[in-house]
Amino acid sequence: MHVKARQNNAATKNRRVRKAQAFSAQGDRYRAKRSINASEHAMEQTGDFDHDAFRKAVQEGLAKGEFRLFYQPKINARTLEATGAECLLRWRRAAKMGLTTLEFIQRAEASGCIDELTEWVINEVTSTLSTCERQRDGFKLAINVSSSLLGNENFLDMITDDARAHADRIVIEITETAIFASAKYAISNLEALSEMGFHLSLDDFGTGYSSLLQLQRLPLDELKIDRDFITDLVSSHKGPLLVRTAIDLAHALECTMVAEGIEDAETMALLTVMGCDEMQGYFIAKPMPGDQ
Ligand code: C2E
Ligand code: MG
Ligand code: MG
Repeated sequence: MHVKARQNNAATKNRRVRKAQAFSAQGDRYRAKRSINASEHAMEQTGDFDHDAFRKAVQEGLAKGEFRLFYQPKINARTLEATGAECLLRWRRAAKMGLTTLEFIQRAEASGCIDELTEWVINEVTSTLSTCERQRDGFKLAINVSSSLLGNENFLDMITDDARAHADRIVIEITETAIFASAKYAISNLEALSEMGFHLSLDDFGTGYSSLLQLQRLPLDELKIDRDFITDLVSSHKGPLLVRTAIDLAHALECTMVAEGIEDAETMALLTVMGCDEMQGYFIAKPMPGDQ
């Protein structure tokens, strides 16, 4: 988990540095400096904080209904129809503290309350699916599950009967690091979830260390290539061939390939030509509250 946290921090920092450089190129040096400082400040806080106080704040937040799910659509690259949405946790209290979602999730993992948050997410998604008008056309909701939970021998206890009843409408997104950092229970948990009918997606694909053999043995339905491969795709020298190879690999594994982080029409067009199956990103739609 600490390795993942460091990788995520590094990736987040790289993105922010790039964003800051872009600001700088536009001549707005003050904004660039402020962007880096804010992100570094938040990251420093992630490593050193009062675990008990944070856990209590989360529990209080859950009791007071402070958490919300935002939904970001995924579309079919050929038909442009929505195939589903990824559910992303939001907590206003964390935002006020200057923490991003990833940062407060990392704190929840470190302070031992990620299970309570994930339970809340599962219940929320299950109740949304029970009332969702689009239930019949294969529209799926995706949830993110942290490595510490996936690798826990009791993780399946969290999967309620209600959630199982909607298994074919739920995608569980996990990261490569999540699977192999705690392989003992993670793999058997994934196999059990797949047998129950849940769809399994490998998130941030391309940033982990899994071998082809390991990938072939996992009961995956979807690979979600990491945003870092997509951000500079159109201007990159090696990027398009790498992504094209990843798409072929996904198809060889009989998985759907999803690209996330699409921010412009050129990237979307290139990915479509390359045979990417589904797309997600700000160009298509930003994460939004459920009532939208
Ligand atoms: P992720 O699962 O890889 O989710 C994608 C992240 O990329 C989301 O950030 C989304 O808002 C952002 N994104 C989507 N399209 C674009 C784009 O075109 N450009 C850019 N720059 N960003 C885009 P968000 O919502 O801040 O979530 C960050 C991470 O926090 C997620 O990464 C996931 O790892 C974690 N997370 C979010 N909700 C949950 C949750 O309920 N449970 C757990 N365990 N983790 C969660
Ligand atoms: Mg995800
Ligand atoms: Mg991702």
